[in-house]
Amino acid sequence: MTDWKNPPKLFIPGPVHVLDEVYQQLARPTLAHRAKEYSDLHGETVTLLKKILFTEQNVFICSSSGSGGWETAARNLISDDETVLCCMCGAFSDKWASVFALNGKKVEELKVEWGQAVTAEMIDEKLSNGNYAAISLAYNETSTGVTNPLEDICKMMQEKHPEVLILVDSVSAMVGLPIKFDEWKIDMTFASVQKAFSIPPGVAVFAVSERAMAKSKTVSNRGYYFDLQQYAKNAAKDQTPTTPAIPQIMALNYQCNRLVAEGMENVWARHKEMADFVRDWAKKNFGLFAPQEYASNTLTAIANTRGIDIASLIKTIKEKHNLLFGNGYGSLKEKNFRIAHMGDMDMESLKQLLSYIDQEIN
Ligand SMILES: *Cc1c(COP(=O)(O)O)cnc(C)c1O
Repeated sequence: MTDWKNPPKLFIPGPVHVLDEVYQQLARPTLAHRAKEYSDLHGETVTLLKKILFTEQNVFICSSSGSGGWETAARNLISDDETVLCCMCGAFSDKWASVFALNGKKVEELKVEWGQAVTAEMIDEKLSNGNYAAISLAYNETSTGVTNPLEDICKMMQEKHPEVLILVDSVSAMVGLPIKFDEWKIDMTFASVQKAFSIPPGVAVFAVSERAMAKSKTVSNRGYYFDLQQYAKNAAKDQTPTTPAIPQIMALNYQCNRLVAEGMENVWARHKEMADFVRDWAKKNFGLFAPQEYASNTLTAIANTRGIDIASLIKTIKEKHNLLFGNGYGSLKEKNFRIAHMGDMDMESLKQLLSYIDQEIN
């Protein structure tokens, strides 16, 4: 048995480390979800989220994990006779493609090798030679530590394929990386709160464009739990279709206030500073798994160039220091290891973790 009441400090790419002051938000008295108190909490939180995402369009709070965003996009935004171009560059973007298929939607794959990014040129070429209702991509592919060039991709889409919807998984990007939802004309993006929002899991944030909302009205079999029309109807009263995870939403409100007070430019710069520090260490001691220009600012995947036993290193650091970092994902298990530097992670803790790893490998 582990001592699960005294768990290791988390340096894995989700769930991430949570501050005590955030845990305290989860301990507040619960609210009646159809009462004015809840609507005030909800409305205030959505207003803050709109500032964080630079949008004046729809923001919904959904009591699901981030995968609920995958299902919502599939069920609401693609009709059965339409095809979505799924950009696939790792485990999460691959899985999203399978979610479209599981919901009966037609999928065309744009696949690059794990560790590489999907570029605007690749997407443009595919779209120019086919008929697609939407593209899907992961802004930040958590399994490989690659950040796809979302701004470039969105600019290309505006210029060349403005009629195609842009669906973006921002689960490990939101907060840590810039998202200018309206300016970039994204149609749907989403994240779960246990990544860069630094909140325990249980809630997801969805941003949805007006044109995506209009499109969803034309799509049949949207189902019950993730029906965007139901979300919109309830959002008009600052409520949700079903009983929401109120403690997490209280924590989300708290974190959004902190983020807006800090200023998003500063938040992004803080993530870059942590990432630069971990990347410099990685390059000195190992190598980066992602190409430098696409290396993520929310987590670093470190290539196991020395052929060390990653599982045993993780175990040692956990046993000696009660700190936990991540192994490679799936088939990359021993090929790389991952250190997250998002949300309320801080430089001091990262320095400490890396110095402990130094003691083991040098
Ligand atoms: C973590 C993650 C997911 C899955 O999120 P859940 O909250 O576990 O459902 C999806 N996409 C990316 C890019 C992720 O990092």
